[in-house]
Amino acid sequence: MELFVLSMHSYVPFVALFIKMIIIVTSELKIKCFSISGDTVNRETSAKLDLAIRGGTIVDGTGEPGRIADVGVRDGRFVSVGEVNERARREIDATGMLVTPGWVDIHTHYDGQATWDSMLSPSCWHGVTTVVMGNCGVGFAPVHPGDQDYLIKLMEGVEDIPGTALSEGIDWQWESFPEYLNAIEAKPHPIDIGAQIPHAALRLYVMGERGADHTEVPTPEEITEMSRLVRESIEAGALGFTTSRTVLHRSSDGRHTPSLTATSDELLGISRALGEVGQGAFEMVTDHMTKDDEWELMRSIVRVSGGRPLSVSMVQYDDTPFAYREQLEQLRRSNEIGLPIRGQVANRAIGILLGLETTLNPFSGSANYKAIKDLPLPERVARMKDPEVRAAILADRVPKKLTETIDFQKIYELGNPPNYEPAPEDSISARAECLGVTREEHIYDCLLGNEGRALLYAPFVNYAEFNHDAVREMLLDENTVPGLGDAGAHCGLICDGSFPTFLLTHWARDRTRGEKLPLEWLVRRQTHDTARAIGLCDRGTIEPGMKADLNVIDFEKLGIGHPEVVYDLPAGGRRLLQKASGYVATIQTGEVTFENGESTGALPGKLIRGPQTVV
Ligand SMILES: [Zn+2]
Repeated sequence: MELFVLSMHSYVPFVALFIKMIIIVTSELKIKCFSISGDTVNRETSAKLDLAIRGGTIVDGTGEPGRIADVGVRDGRFVSVGEVNERARREIDATGMLVTPGWVDIHTHYDGQATWDSMLSPSCWHGVTTVVMGNCGVGFAPVHPGDQDYLIKLMEGVEDIPGTALSEGIDWQWESFPEYLNAIEAKPHPIDIGAQIPHAALRLYVMGERGADHTEVPTPEEITEMSRLVRESIEAGALGFTTSRTVLHRSSDGRHTPSLTATSDELLGISRALGEVGQGAFEMVTDHMTKDDEWELMRSIVRVSGGRPLSVSMVQYDDTPFAYREQLEQLRRSNEIGLPIRGQVANRAIGILLGLETTLNPFSGSANYKAIKDLPLPERVARMKDPEVRAAILADRVPKKLTETIDFQKIYELGNPPNYEPAPEDSISARAECLGVTREEHIYDCLLGNEGRALLYAPFVNYAEFNHDAVREMLLDENTVPGLGDAGAHCGLICDGSFPTFLLTHWARDRTRGEKLPLEWLVRRQTHDTARAIGLCDRGTIEPGMKADLNVIDFEKLGIGHPEVVYDLPAGGRRLLQKASGYVATIQTGEVTFENGESTGALPGKLIRGPQTVV
């Protein structure tokens, strides 16, 4: 206090001068306002709020019942919720609308896209105001000059993002992870971005070529160096560290992801670094969810990090349809002994989309289809309608299974609006039987729908029992958190960036094949709970003091569109995109960023540096 008084004394002359300047500037502003219009002056001088949203049904992210109220915003924060009498510079009438916090999506792969794309689509169309990237152990920093191509191939293979787009789009203005954070920070976006340090890039950076060789293990010095770099990254603002232990993650040249065979020494060394800083989360995906050893490893990771939270991807597989219940039990046991481990779960089945423009369709292997597959879509469709071409393609042998895990009993017409919980009698096989045609004929005709843009949906996880009951059970568990949407990734086959919207439309409103879930609880899951899972305590609820990120939603009109294939990535790269309807306004840090699906041009999103608390 003494110091404060002293310094105030010595600055008195300057303070007086400063106040004088403010008076001059303010009176000049007043004069300017008068010259524009009296009304403007009145509003500008009497408005105490930057933004007021009036009369909406507030579902505030705490899980409490929705209530009709006003929301006042100043300086990017909520200042009042209830009856707000102060005037605001911008007023939004939300009568009849839902008002929710902005969605916090903790599982995205915008690591490359965020460097070239200001918008972060598709998340920007789905009411998302915070994204977290760097998941599943893949990303683009740290990187030595010359190693960029390998990281691109890895992202291309693991996350199905075109390598050509990444090569053309990324400018590589960084080597270290802190430099990468600076590059992300320098590019404005409409959404806040949190970044995590990916194990694959880190391993390659420290171990060189050996980092991607699964017969090699790091030396103790290399583990120390990885830990040091993780500490440096977390201190610079990374929200966590991520790793992958699945054989499904391979680079586009077929090699397994570098972190696949990381030993416990390495993983524990790294998690100890999180503990030393005392912040940051651990995210992982693993093939060994049914093994006790793996759960012991996860518990050790959390223990040596001094209790840093860990989230692990969790899905239901067809061949072990009830294993998820044992995993929920493992989660419960871990949390009971004070080790915060969460299952990261999807809010619907995850499936691939088969079509004439996506990477794969059931005729991809047909010689007669291959002969025309590179024709522009309208021409290809015209050719496919020719009875002779049709007969020739159908005469080619179609494999019994589309992939190792997907058979035709589980392929459906996606439809428009898309149906993500189709019944067994909706399968291509069942419909073909009803129609009295072969399965292949029915598939062929479906693919030609909507001028060749129709899609077939082949759910490969979370659909073992042909419904979403397991998804519901996983979502409902108190030790899980919604995620796994992979927004920004899987450009040619999967399109799940719409998860946050689907959570509301399907689970609170549209589900017909089983029980729904309460709206208030769903909103809390995608806002408060996801934000807290990654250390963001300054957002996710509509309460005074919290960050003013929110959505004004016309709930009746809320919907997700049919996925479409567009070629808008750098180098004309292809991606599947899915838009939404019903988001009347999305507000980020008090600024309206999207109105009825269109950008307002405002880009108030910031890089999030480290965990956040309410100021
Ligand atoms: Zn992922």
